[in-house]
Amino acid sequence: MLKGRKALVTGASSGLGAHFAQVLAAQGAEVTLGARRLAELQEVCAQITNDGGQARAVRLDVTDANSVAEVCAEPFDIVVNNAGISAAGPAIGYSEADWDRTMDINLKGAFLVSQAAAQKMKDNGGGSIINIASILGLRVAGAVAAYATSKAALVQLTKATALEWARYGIRVNALCPGYIETPLNTDFFATDAGQALIKRIPQRRLGRLQDLDGPLLLLASDAGAYMTGSEIAVDGGHLVSSL
Ligand code: NAD
Repeated sequence: MLKGRKALVTGASSGLGAHFAQVLAAQGAEVTLGARRLAELQEVCAQITNDGGQARAVRLDVTDANSVAEVCAEPFDIVVNNAGISAAGPAIGYSEADWDRTMDINLKGAFLVSQAAAQKMKDNGGGSIINIASILGLRVAGAVAAYATSKAALVQLTKATALEWARYGIRVNALCPGYIETPLNTDFFATDAGQALIKRIPQRRLGRLQDLDGPLLLLASDAGAYMTGSEIAVDGGHLVSSL
């Protein structure tokens, strides 16, 4: 499906990003995995190569324009803006430093990477940019004000850049996952609070990484050729839960 396409996945050293890199590579894409921790990235690359895919690791800090420019000096057909942090805490006591860090990684980082990649895509006949937002960019919950705000802004950035870049053949879409089970949150979802949260999801279960594969490939491939500026929620119905 993606043979001959070059893809960049940011924040690919763990969780969703590592999975996205594997999924794109399994469809024939040559995948560049970017994150700050090179050793972890190399482990993911080794797995992909063992499975017969093509992957390489590059050091990337999405908040650093020089680092972004270095990685995006080569053209990509597909970019997955996945790097993100989910710092939680009540808004009343949230520190300025934490606010800035959340916005820098989740929003400015996606902008810097999108812009640098789009400048190459423009000369190359186009491409697909997939911004990994969240259902918290579309609705709110307690103690995630900075995160939810950064993801809402990312959804709006998706639409604004989709509008401006359609003329260059660049599609920009947002994938908005609900709660996906990863090694980082398994312990929380085993607690009473975690179990209560799962009961509020209409499908009564957490998302699995594999639940994101179809939507990711739809947006990355020509199957989604007429899609730009859209937001796709993958959340077991969480956004339509009863009020
Ligand atoms: P994770 O912490 O496992 O992965 C985040 C990745 O981003 C890591 O590889 C980290 O090294 C990287 N990263 C952080 N700062 C970076 C920077 N400055 N430069 C480059 N890379 C950086 O978390 P995850 O759960 O896999 O989340 C991945 C994305 O999916 C995030 O954007 C997150 O907001 C989004 N998301 C996750 C869920 C979920 O349930 N896990 C739900 C909705 C959205």
